[in-house]
Amino acid sequence: MYVCSNKKCKKEIAKLDTKFTRCPSCGCRILYKQRQPIAKEVSTN
Ligand SMILES: [Zn+2]
Repeated sequence: MYVCSNKKCKKEIAKLDTKFTRCPSCGCRILYKQRQPIAKEVSTN
């Protein structure tokens, strides 16, 4: 998941085209990676 860096846009982009890495909404090329909250079971012994 990526988020547009444009403060007025902030569109969430699930998939990125490798050739055209830009926001489909505003055309901004700077996108932030957003960590998805993944529930993982980790066993630490
Ligand atoms: Zn945007």
